[in-house]
Amino acid sequence: MVRTQLRARGIVDERVLAVMERVPRHLFVDPDSQDRAYDDSALPIREGQTISQPYMVALMTQSLLLGGKEKVLEIGTGSGYQTAVLAPLADRIFSMERLGRLGRRAEKLLFSLDIHNVLIRIADGTHGWAEEAPYDAILVAAGAPGVPENLLRQLSVGGRLVIPLGPEDRQLLYRITRTKTGYDEKKLGSCRFVKLIGRYGWES
Ligand code: SAH
Repeated sequence: MVRTQLRARGIVDERVLAVMERVPRHLFVDPDSQDRAYDDSALPIREGQTISQPYMVALMTQSLLLGGKEKVLEIGTGSGYQTAVLAPLADRIFSMERLGRLGRRAEKLLFSLDIHNVLIRIADGTHGWAEEAPYDAILVAAGAPGVPENLLRQLSVGGRLVIPLGPEDRQLLYRITRTKTGYDEKKLGSCRFVKLIGRYGWES
């Protein structure tokens, strides 16, 4: 997976590649999809959601430019796979999931893998997690119709927000960096995520 799907497609951050070699993706997918756990695709998890494609997880993680000391906010815990990739690359991860069953399941799994720098909150992530702000990096793992203002406000100066933006069936992945005077925007490529549902996302 790391060699043919990630390295071959331009993922160059050695720390990201090393972590993705170690995290057991098969533990995060459904029993029905076990034999496809390391395939180059998103796979269904419970409650109509999906675990993101390995390449997309790698691209988003690499784009956050993590050095190891960051406070990170993740929106859309899902299976917890992306969270498990982020955890060794930053100081602390605050992860939000709107569906209680998914969030609690991910929490147990991460704990069983000895990952202890993650806190999961079951709530609408479009509000952000103000008590812990500001964040050096924010990753949104669901497609949004526009950038939730709260997330921009909760970025530190120099902080990076990676978010898929656009209509339901196809989005563009953006990295938005907060500068002293405003925000810089970079397009990272096209993608397709499940919907970000919430007060400042899609209605349903
Ligand atoms: N990164 C995950 C996949 C996430 S799929 C993984 O590796 O498995 C997107 C997730 O975002 C889904 O679990 C969905 O329930 C969640 N989600 C959608 N809208 C949300 C919101 N407003 N707040 C928090 N989670 C949300």
